[in-house]
Amino acid sequence: MMSRLGAALAGLSMLVPAFAAERQAPDPKATEVWAPEPRRVAPGSAGAAPSDAIVLFDGTHLAEWVQAAAPERPAAWTVAGGTLTVRGGSGDIQTRRLFTDYQIHLEWRVPAALTGRGQARGNSGLFLASTGSGSGYEIQILDCADNTTYANGQAASLYKQHIPLVNACAAPGEWQSYDVIWTAPRFAADGTLLSPAYVTALHNGVLVHNRVALQGETVYAGTPAYRRHGPAPIKLQDHGDAVSFRNIWVRPL
Ligand code: MG
Repeated sequence: MMSRLGAALAGLSMLVPAFAAERQAPDPKATEVWAPEPRRVAPGSAGAAPSDAIVLFDGTHLAEWVQAAAPERPAAWTVAGGTLTVRGGSGDIQTRRLFTDYQIHLEWRVPAALTGRGQARGNSGLFLASTGSGSGYEIQILDCADNTTYANGQAASLYKQHIPLVNACAAPGEWQSYDVIWTAPRFAADGTLLSPAYVTALHNGVLVHNRVALQGETVYAGTPAYRRHGPAPIKLQDHGDAVSFRNIWVRPL
């Protein structure tokens, strides 16, 4: 007759294989990464710049901007009432600073009263890297609440290259936002393209491009192509329409 102790030991021995199996299971601690910790950034409230952003326009001055065609000259657009507005015919403006990869936030507004149609209806543009006056990589700014144009040239399109996933436009006269993550193209010393530019973009908080690759710089007609460049300014387009901007900030990555 088995003693109570014997019975207990027999019962315990039946558990041993289970314990052994448990010992062989992966240790969750082995896959925990504790360092380095991500740097702390205080998020901005209500669209305001995070603590580590470079503020490109805070509503009061254009110290961060110059004329794209003549970078030695201060930007000639109008600052009033906390907004920056295209002065039609004065030319594109671009940042003094140069950027490679970054996250940008920008708010824009086309005039409430618009008479033009198609591409002549609140046209401006955010050039994610300016490679010279009129050149670079444009995400279109245009009324698209009550406007028909070619889909790859509508607001939030990567002009003539990528149609936005959806039309997230607000009405003319309302403020709208772009949040864009830009990965600059990389080139070999001889100008060969090593990796294309990539764009992820949200329009009014809605995803419109999910890491799409560009075929080259924006062109109005013909086939896009890359030309070797390094860090570049960010540019805003003067297309003749009185488009306004506010709350522009950038975080180099
Ligand atoms: Mg444009």
